[in-house]
Amino acid sequence: MSARRDVVVVGGGHNGLVAAAYLARDGLDVLVCERREVAGGAAVTERPFGPDYRITSLSYVVSLLPASLVSDLRLDKHGYQVFPQGPYFAPRADGRYLRLPDDPADRSREIAKFSAADAAAYPAYQAHMRDIARILGPMLVEIPAPLGSRSPAGLARQAMLLRHLRKLDTRRSVAVIRLLTGSVADLLDPYFASDAVRGVLSVSGVIGTWAGPRSGGTAYVTLHHHIGDVDGQPGAWGFPRGGMGGVTGAMAGAARSFGAQIRTGAEVARIRTTPGGRVAGVTLVSGEEVDAGLVVSTVHPQIAFGQLVEPSALPEDFLADIRRWQTRSGTVKINLALDRLPVFTSHPSFDPQVHGGTIVLAESLDDLENAFQEAVRGQPSAQPFADICIPSVFDDSLAPAGHHVMSMFTQWVPCGYAAAPHEAELGAYADRVIARMESVAPGFTSSILHRQVIGPHRMAEEYGLVGGNIFHGELSLGQMYHARPAAGYADLRTPVRGLYQAGSATHGGGGVTGIPGRNVVRQIRADRRAARLRVR
Ligand SMILES: Cc1cc2nc3c(=O)[nH]c(=O)nc-3n(C[C@H](O)[C@H](O)[C@H](O)COP(=O)(O)OP(=O)(O)OC[C@H]3O[C@@H](n4cnc5c(N)ncnc54)[C@H](O)[C@@H]3O)c2cc1C
Repeated sequence: MSARRDVVVVGGGHNGLVAAAYLARDGLDVLVCERREVAGGAAVTERPFGPDYRITSLSYVVSLLPASLVSDLRLDKHGYQVFPQGPYFAPRADGRYLRLPDDPADRSREIAKFSAADAAAYPAYQAHMRDIARILGPMLVEIPAPLGSRSPAGLARQAMLLRHLRKLDTRRSVAVIRLLTGSVADLLDPYFASDAVRGVLSVSGVIGTWAGPRSGGTAYVTLHHHIGDVDGQPGAWGFPRGGMGGVTGAMAGAARSFGAQIRTGAEVARIRTTPGGRVAGVTLVSGEEVDAGLVVSTVHPQIAFGQLVEPSALPEDFLADIRRWQTRSGTVKINLALDRLPVFTSHPSFDPQVHGGTIVLAESLDDLENAFQEAVRGQPSAQPFADICIPSVFDDSLAPAGHHVMSMFTQWVPCGYAAAPHEAELGAYADRVIARMESVAPGFTSSILHRQVIGPHRMAEEYGLVGGNIFHGELSLGQMYHARPAAGYADLRTPVRGLYQAGSATHGGGGVTGIPGRNVVRQIRADRRAARLRVR
């Protein structure tokens, strides 16, 4: 016998939890089915080193989650708290360092240590990024207009898009096109010449991408990381208390408080459809069936439409788009437990703005490009770059007193590593990242008590990130806005009536944004209203 629910949400990552919370708040009977034993997806805190250390396994900082979502779901009542992250700190092989503090005068002094011209250019660069973020940022939170649609509703939505384009003048329209199509090198070239500044600023253009800083499209990735805010500070990032599992724990708490049920260890084997092309419910791997007139999939689209939905229920052109979806990666996450904080040669004293900042190991933009090109040629980088943080500097819930946890986001290994574990190569790669840290903070290696290395294969197999891509698919120009993840379905519907999608591969996804999870509920509400009107 089957159970019946109003809605089944497939996947208990943050988007699934956000969708469940809003749907349950609307009064629907919602069940979330999560394959793993813990909800949270890529935003999860786990204990791989035993009970004493809490590790933010994959994602590590928050910025892109809209403040309105936090207040709608009253996440603060469920434990959501963010410690603002300190600024960039880039210790260098020659014993110097570059910092980029928020205070303009301090920042200018720091940059001028490397180049007076770069220091003078920084405010113009920042103004340029803020200007474009003001135009493109609001578009990120909306359901995309269905470009090319000729239906009356589609034409009306395309007309609405003009209200964003009204903010463009002729100069800005060129700036936007250049930003969308260019590389982060193209973006930085007019402003900066010093390796130190170019190295640090190019990191946010390549985070999570299978592209180097000279590849087209990486300028947009930089902007994507500047769109959010923490405490009203644009572009700022923060450490959630309890790691990223603190964010998804609060979302799960909110969803439950509105009446949703979240089941872990509940892998969906099939999303069932009727012969008439409607969704009928899901069948779990255990054989249990749950019937529902609404199903929201938040898993990677190649899992949802390549494995869970019967191919005969889907049109060939849709399936072709899903098969062609690019989801490569060369990201390796390294998590460490330390018995003390690193002592940097260039900055030996403890400073929460340094140790609690974004510690970047990247000597120059070319350093990053070389690392990428090695991976393209099939070799893991000899000198991987690393974006590092030590959240336990602010959050005492993560490690015993005096000890710390360190998160190292690094790139690149070859994207083909998603197909097999490559344990030995990943071990040697992690040794090189640690040696790089040792070279700027002598004694670092001996402070390591435990280490965990998560490469593309494990990201895919254990966390459902196909290809190891951290965003369920590359943030490239061909996969943006109305192209996410298939032509004609960026409105979060699918070819199966009653089946919706809201994972990171949809527009507004790519990071812990919650935007797809919120927008899918808006789309479902609109469709239910329209259906009620048709019945009348
Ligand atoms: C190494 C790394 C670092 C990152 N760093 C950051 C960062 O610092 N800040 C940031 O904002 N973003 C970061 N991201 C990106 C961000 O974490 C993701 O974009 C986001 O968490 C994805 O959320 P989601 O809900 O869309 O999907 P997911 O979190 O992938 O959730 C999908 C869920 O579906 C489950 N699932 C899969 N198949 C099934 C099935 N058949 N049945 C039931 N359940 C299933 C999975 O187990 C998973 O829990 C990072 C990602 C990675 C991998």
